[in-house]
Amino acid sequence: MIELDGAQGEGGGQILRTALTLSMITGQPFRLTNIRAKRPKPGLMRQHLAAVQASAQICAASLSQAEAGSQTLTFTPNTIKGGDYTFAIGTAGSCTLVLQTILPALLYAEVASTVKISGGTHNSMAPPVHFLQRAYGRVLEQMGAKVDITLKRFGFYPAGGGEVVATVEPCTQLKIIELMERGERRNGFAESFIAGVPASVATRELGVIGLGMGWEEPQLLHRTLPGEQGPGNALLLTLEHEHATEVFAGFGEKSVRAETVAKHVLQDVRDYIASGAAIGEHLADQLMLPMALAGGGRFTTTRLSQHALTNAEVISRFLPVVFDLQEGERFSTCTILKPEI
Ligand code: ATP
Repeated sequence: MIELDGAQGEGGGQILRTALTLSMITGQPFRLTNIRAKRPKPGLMRQHLAAVQASAQICAASLSQAEAGSQTLTFTPNTIKGGDYTFAIGTAGSCTLVLQTILPALLYAEVASTVKISGGTHNSMAPPVHFLQRAYGRVLEQMGAKVDITLKRFGFYPAGGGEVVATVEPCTQLKIIELMERGERRNGFAESFIAGVPASVATRELGVIGLGMGWEEPQLLHRTLPGEQGPGNALLLTLEHEHATEVFAGFGEKSVRAETVAKHVLQDVRDYIASGAAIGEHLADQLMLPMALAGGGRFTTTRLSQHALTNAEVISRFLPVVFDLQEGERFSTCTILKPEI
């Protein structure tokens, strides 16, 4: 039984999600205490509970203390089973975080899977579905995984109601890859999605991006969604390079000006461009797990967040890998290695 302290490092829900994924794949049970101890409302929230229940269903795990608000969980996995699954988060909790918990495990099933998840698809503090498709999905594909992610309906905070469907083919040996340089830019565009909010929100956001990036109309895309999918607004800026794709996101909020949302996105994009790194901060923490499963990998990133450092610690509790994390002047480098035995 692997004993984990949920208060370690960054102290959030990622410790739980990484533990679930790797417990399913390696067959090692774990006990997690102090779940999300460093969050204002500690314990299992709807999204975390949905991730626990989805994982348990996929590998017929035995659970104890898996209930809302619980700060302790014991998870004992069984064999991973592919097939058709439907999971409902029931709130605007992030579908993508639940999907990211189970997706790597389904690569190790004997048959292909189709997973339908309802909840939030475009939440702050979580990867938007487009990020999973374009940024994370592209790297998984380079690593040999056959995964397809379809966005059926947007779900914004607080209404939720979005839906994502993913198909996952078995792939028990991911390829080791290196992402040291992003290469030439092949494409760049911004999209402002609006549902049930005034069109001027999109116009103002895209105006700021247009000025900041020197982009004109064909690169500035107004995406009006059916009003019933709202209220909600997501601003996404996609940069497609030769070796990697990045998606930067901002979300409209009631008391925040559209210009402010766009300026924050612009700042993240500028930091990424100036760093010269292959990938941004979020993709970095999300690639550590698949690369560790592959048995190695290497990338440069804008910065290694506390989230990434904590993730590396949890991953090394389950897998025989070591992380060499180097902070440079402009960017950081992460190397994942299997130690010689
Ligand atoms: P909680 O304890 O509330 O669940 P958490 O620790 O699980 O929080 P975060 O630390 O906020 O959640 O991170 C969740 C994940 O979402 C991380 O992998 C992070 O990289 C990712 N993420 C957050 N914002 C974005 C974004 N804009 N684009 C892509 N990924 C994102």
